[in-house]
Amino acid sequence: MDRPRITIFDTTLRDGEQSPGCSMNVQEKVRLAQQLNRLGVDVIEAGFPIASDGDFEAVQRISATVRRPIIAGLARACKGDVDRAWQALQGAAHPRIHVFLATSDIHLQYKLRITREQCLEQAREAVAHAKSLCADVEFSPEDATRTDAGFLCQVVEAVIAAGATTVNIPDTVGYSMPEEYGQLIRTLREKVAGIEKVTISTHCHNDLGLAVANSLAGVQEGVRQVECTINGIGERAGNASLEEIVMAMRVRRDRYPYENAIASEHLFAASQMLAEITRVPVQPNKAIIGRNAFAHEAGIHQDGMLKNPLTYEIMTPQSVGVPDSRLVLGKHSGRHALALRCEQLGHQFERRELDEVYRRFVVLADRIKKVQDGHLLELIRDVVEGNTSNGSGVSSTGKKFPPATAALPLPRAAAAAANSGDAHIAQVAGSAGQATVKIPFSDHHGEQEDYLWGV
Ligand SMILES: [Zn+2]
Repeated sequence: MDRPRITIFDTTLRDGEQSPGCSMNVQEKVRLAQQLNRLGVDVIEAGFPIASDGDFEAVQRISATVRRPIIAGLARACKGDVDRAWQALQGAAHPRIHVFLATSDIHLQYKLRITREQCLEQAREAVAHAKSLCADVEFSPEDATRTDAGFLCQVVEAVIAAGATTVNIPDTVGYSMPEEYGQLIRTLREKVAGIEKVTISTHCHNDLGLAVANSLAGVQEGVRQVECTINGIGERAGNASLEEIVMAMRVRRDRYPYENAIASEHLFAASQMLAEITRVPVQPNKAIIGRNAFAHEAGIHQDGMLKNPLTYEIMTPQSVGVPDSRLVLGKHSGRHALALRCEQLGHQFERRELDEVYRRFVVLADRIKKVQDGHLLELIRDVVEGNTSNGSGVSSTGKKFPPATAALPLPRAAAAAANSGDAHIAQVAGSAGQATVKIPFSDHHGEQEDYLWGV
C-alpha cells in the first residue's frame, strides 16, 4: 500500500528571512532557492511581495528560474496584497497565493480592530479573489492555536467554500503543546464541512522548543503539509526545523509511515549555504546539522563506535550530507576533490568559476597546509562576489571566518585516527577549533563504570 505523502513547504525565504540578522538580497535568495530545489522541497515560499520591492523582485526572479516546485507568495487578506502577490508570481510554472488573516480574539481586538463577523467576511472575500486569479490558494488563520475552536472551524469552512486548496493552522506564537495541537487538527477534521477536499498544513513556531513536536503531532492527526525552515530560522525562536522534521520521519518510519521527496544528503549543504549567506552560524549542538551532531567525544562512545556504529548512531552522517572529515584538503588535492567539497558546502560551479576557485585554493593551500571549510567558504565568497584575493583566506572585507565555524565536524575523526594506527590519540572537535585528546582505546579497565555516565 502507498504511504501517504507529506508535502514539505519551505519558508526560509519568507518567515526565515524575517528573523533578526537573516535578511538576504535577491541574488542570495535565488541561490538558496536553487539549493532548496536540489534538496527536493515541494513548495518554496519565496517572499511577501507587497512588503518591499526587494521581496517582489525575489519572488519574480525565483518564479522565473526555479521551475519544479510550487512557488508561493504571501499576502494579507486584502485585494492590494493578493494582486501584488499574483503579479510577482506571473512567471511561475506552479504559482500559489498564500493568504493570511488573524483569527484569535486578541488579534482581532487589538491588532486588526475588527469583529469576528468582519474577519469571516474578509477571509472569504480575499480567498475568493485569490481563487479568481490562481487555482492554488492557501489560507492561514494567523494565531490559530489561540483562536476559539468553534470560530476557527467557521473560518476554515468559509475559506474552503471560497476555493482554498490548502488550509494552514499556524501556532504563530509557539504556545501550543503537542497533544493540544493534535487535538485541534482532530477537531477540524471532525467538524469542518469539506475539510477532506483540502490539504491541512502545520506552521509551528519554536518559542517553547516544541515546533517540531507540534508539527509531528499534527502529521499523526492527518496533516499532509509541514511548513518549516532550514536551520529552524524564523521569527523570534524560529520555525520548525526542516532537517529535524525530515530526519525524524525518516529515522522513525515505524512511527511515521509517510513519504516525502527530500533528498536528505543535501541537508548539510543547504544548512551551510544559509549560514554562509546570513553569517548566522548554526549552534554546535543543533540536531542533524550542528557541528557536534555526529561528534563522539566521550571515550566510551568512541570505543562503541569503533566496534559498531549502531551503538551510538541512529543515522549516518552521510545520510544528511555531512562531509567525510577524513578527506582533508591540502595543496595536493585535485580539482575533483575540491569541486566535491564545494558541492557539499552548497556551491556548484561552472567550469570557469571552478578554475578560479582552484587557482586561489592552491595559493592558499601552499601557505596554510590544511584548508578548512571556513577558509574555503571565505575564498568561495570572494570568487562569487568577484573580489580580488590575496590568497590569505581573509576576505576583502577584512572579516576573518570565525574559528568555531571553521572547525570541521569530526564525526569519524577518532575512527580515522585509530585506523591509521594512531589508536591512542585522536583529534576531536574542541570549542575553539581542534584539540588533541588522549583516548585509551586499549584500556578496557573500568569500562563498566564508564557506562554509568555514558547514558
Ligand atoms: Zn510564522
